Amino acid sequence: VTRRWDVERDVFLSVLSPQARLVLLTLLALSNAQTCVVPAEFSPSLSRLALMTGLSLATIKRVLNELEEGGWVIRKRPDVVKARAEGERTRYRLARPKGGLRQSLGGLPESLGLGSDRATGLGSDRATSQTAFQTKEQQQQKSAPKTTPESVVSDATGATLAEAAAIAKRVQNERSPRSLVGLLRRMAEDGDLTQFLIEQRAATIRADVAAAIAELRRGPECRHGVAGGEALHPQARTPLCPQCRAQARRPAA
Ligand SMILES: [Zn+2]
Repeated sequence: VTRRWDVERDVFLSVLSPQARLVLLTLLALSNAQTCVVPAEFSPSLSRLALMTGLSLATIKRVLNELEEGGWVIRKRPDVVKARAEGERTRYRLARPKGGLRQSLGGLPESLGLGSDRATGLGSDRATSQTAFQTKEQQQQKSAPKTTPESVVSDATGATLAEAAAIAKRVQNERSPRSLVGLLRRMAEDGDLTQFLIEQRAATIRADVAAAIAELRRGPECRHGVAGGEALHPQARTPLCPQCRAQARRPAA
């Protein structure tokens, strides 16, 4: 069962556009916390979603299609007769993205034509990020009985061992505590480690995006002489060259 909390955490760790986050968080606010299903009586019309989010109807429609494609939103549409006669509206269920968070980069490895080594690397990252979302109990069953800084962090936050190691190292560098395990335990009790994990994951995603852009910059020049200028930024999905971008923004002739 997917709980609202799990989807919310995925939203914050994702690279979704601000509009997509807003629509998702709005639907989550209407949904049952245990099931992520929006109850029939709260199921919003598109115009209600537009009012609630401040976004245009066209943006709501586009974003919902993207979210459905990414596996974040599952829509159940009423048949036309029922919709007309009984005013039955589309029902929404929220879910965690297809194939884990890395997929929400928009199929990064394939679309960039990166080598198979690179793609495999991302694939295994995806597998470890799945581990990161296991429950505390699941993690403890597997972890060694010995308490290490890493085990304190991963038990408290569900971080992978690599993430936990990076967080422990950061705390060590920033605070130079007498007992790293002791400090990490106190931070875990105060809930301070979650923010570190969020920042750690954001940094990993930024590094992936930066590597992807560097790869694109090796591509052919656009007509303005910018290397990889016509290639699309992996998050913004707009051309890397500012002039190409301005042209793309103008309505198609
Ligand atoms: Zn250009």
